[in-house]
Amino acid sequence: MSEQPLVLIVMAMEAEAAPLRASLGAAPAVPPDWASSLPVRLAVADHAGVDIVLVTNGTDPRTGVDCIGSTAAALATQVALDHTRTGLGRRPDLVLTVGTAGGWNRAGASIGDVYLAWDRFVCHDRRIDLPGFNAFGRADLPAADLRAHADALGCRLGVVTTGDSLDESPEDAARILASGAEVKEMEAAAVAWIGSLHDVPVGAVKAITDLVDSPVATAEQFSANLATAADALQRTTLALLARLGEEIGADV
Ligand code: SAH
Repeated sequence: MSEQPLVLIVMAMEAEAAPLRASLGAAPAVPPDWASSLPVRLAVADHAGVDIVLVTNGTDPRTGVDCIGSTAAALATQVALDHTRTGLGRRPDLVLTVGTAGGWNRAGASIGDVYLAWDRFVCHDRRIDLPGFNAFGRADLPAADLRAHADALGCRLGVVTTGDSLDESPEDAARILASGAEVKEMEAAAVAWIGSLHDVPVGAVKAITDLVDSPVATAEQFSANLATAADALQRTTLALLARLGEEIGADV
């Protein structure tokens, strides 16, 4: 068994993951048998004193696009956790949901800014007006405390809100305002939920590709800024891993 800290990185889109996978020099790994029909893509690496498992949601065989969104993110996280348990005999010290996101001018965000999740993950499109289910729908799951790294990495901190749509409906907007979230994306709360079931802390690194309160359509901004954001994601994630290697490594 390795003495190094183990970090699991979960990413949705191949365009987000490819630069990071390449710079980590990650090698492909075989998903567990039960997951052999799922499109998830697993890789492992050893970087800056950290063992890394990188999982991406993969490509949908029916439509040929990346499986973005919460369902595929939950599955990918479970597959990767199973791989660390059976293949490496341990749970990760930390799970990171890494990807692009929308931000807001009103919160002072700019394209290319990178956020670390703090202090929680919420859902904005699971409206279930029934006793108990309301709270389940909101998620409200704690984020791993990465605040000590934010300044050194030049990152902002914010609540991350997840939903299964790229646009923002009026109902979503009202719920997001009420939650105070500053980062809008489609996977983090699902990853955080699986992490919570396994008692593994979950943090997030999210680079802003679009500003939700800009007059320019989100899809247009996203396409124009994806490469810039993927580059910022890769640089910030590598720097965070190096810092975690020192920090968690010292505690192991
Ligand atoms: N339309 C894109 C497809 C993906 S956009 C394309 O043409 O390639 C959605 C992905 O980016 C999701 O994985 C989500 O987590 C993230 N994302 C970026 N900005 C977002 C926003 N404003 N709202 C929701 N998800 C966003």
